Amino acid sequence: MHICIQWHDWFYQETDASSVDSASAATRRRRPRDRRRPPAAPPTPSTPQRISTEELAEALRPHLLSPKRMWAMGYPLEIKPTSTKAVVYINPPPRPRPLQLTTWDVNAPEFVPGGSQSDSGRGSWGSTPRSDSDEEADAVEHLCVRCDKIFRMTREGEYLVEETCAYHWGRVCGSDSRYTCCNSTLGSKGCSTARFHVWSGTRPGMNGPLEGYVRARSPKGGVYALDAEMCYTTAGLELASIAVIAADGRLVYKSLVKPSSPVVDHNTRFSGIRPRDLARATKTLRDVQNDILGFVGSDTILIGHALDNDLRALKLLHSAVVDTCALYPHSRGFPLRRSLRALSEELLGRSVQRGSAGHSPLEDARAAMDLVLLKVHEERANRTRLSNQLPMLQPYDPLISSA
Ligand SMILES: [Zn+2]
Ligand SMILES: [Zn+2]
Repeated sequence: MHICIQWHDWFYQETDASSVDSASAATRRRRPRDRRRPPAAPPTPSTPQRISTEELAEALRPHLLSPKRMWAMGYPLEIKPTSTKAVVYINPPPRPRPLQLTTWDVNAPEFVPGGSQSDSGRGSWGSTPRSDSDEEADAVEHLCVRCDKIFRMTREGEYLVEETCAYHWGRVCGSDSRYTCCNSTLGSKGCSTARFHVWSGTRPGMNGPLEGYVRARSPKGGVYALDAEMCYTTAGLELASIAVIAADGRLVYKSLVKPSSPVVDHNTRFSGIRPRDLARATKTLRDVQNDILGFVGSDTILIGHALDNDLRALKLLHSAVVDTCALYPHSRGFPLRRSLRALSEELLGRSVQRGSAGHSPLEDARAAMDLVLLKVHEERANRTRLSNQLPMLQPYDPLISSA
């Protein structure tokens, strides 16, 4: 039996080396990589001619995530009504590696290491100083999301020790638990190295209250799919690129974003963001939030794959969301999630996230939208089929009429 542990999806979001374009200009221009894509993929189920935005919004209403579900999935929620302070609950990710440093308590309100180390229990990743010495009094512990090591930084984001991060960038797959990057076995020394460890910016359990969040105040309607790409900074994962598309696949918004903290790793393999991309980014997170709130209203339905990651990076509080992770759940149930790549290949017959240049937020947003449209069209077709199975109840019989 093949079991793929796809915990990287918790952290690594899909990406693109995009530029800051006006929506209209970018809509007319296709990127070179798009043109290189093999034309073999079957037609996508994107059928905007047959369903209006209003009809789509209505059809999606049963699929909107409840606040309870959003909370369980790691979406940012407001502390209290109308507040822009957020709280986030992060489930401990499944750990594929055999050498676990700690145990995880899913129900713990705040993450605390399990005591398997020499830690006296004072440590709490990302929150509590561990040392009383002058030098390290301000230190916080973080878990490296690539190699699982615990490392320490000052609260200002300076590394206390410069230590090489040796990690596997691939997933653990197959009955013999091998990494997809190098085919070595679970627990083997990492096949890739980086200068620093990196962390996600959140820790398992409760996070918050978090500042800097925004929310739409008035209704504007509409249905959009959104995808963001992130880089690792000293403050964790930060937004670096974003694309928003309409239901007909039209690009509505696309921008690079300057992270607010120093970039530690561009995460290019997954984000597609190269140093030279961010060098020409002009917009800040606040700029992008303002742009997004120009067309996203309180009732606008936002679609995405693991959209919780995107909304945390965008620092957007939004309650009308459809997540393809929930729409197409993992066969072994939550919190496991199917990857966008697997869903696209299986259901859309389309390859995404295959290029060596990293993910494309535009491509991934389109895949999420098409997966949602596929579900809506399937449901409509099922309803039509059911109603056609009751011919006796129909007032008009064409056979009799033509006789
Ligand atoms: Zn490897
Ligand atoms: Zn590391």
